[in-house]
Amino acid sequence: MLRLAARDVPNINLSTVYRTLKRMQDEGEITPVSVPGEPPRYEPAHVAEHHHHHFHCKKCGRVFDLSGCPTGLARLLPGGFVLENHTLVLHGLCAECA
Ligand SMILES: [Zn+2]
Ligand SMILES: [Zn+2]
Repeated sequence: MLRLAARDVPNINLSTVYRTLKRMQDEGEITPVSVPGEPPRYEPAHVAEHHHHHFHCKKCGRVFDLSGCPTGLARLLPGGFVLENHTLVLHGLCAECA
């Protein structure tokens, strides 16, 4: 989102962008999607509400939504631990880059 804005409006003020993102996040319009080692990305809250995971293409850097969720994650936990939620980012090459 940030990258698009910067491309479409070359002189856009970055602090304005960050402020707008912060406000949208505070108001629950967008949800951050964190990919380790990458700048923060956001998706619309109505998308984030539906549990899903992400695929990060290491070549073009795009992040794709995945449908589906692996089951049985709770089995990874030691005894007595309680699983409340999880995030999952898969890494690799998208169809265009592969
Ligand atoms: Zn790619
Ligand atoms: Zn899941």
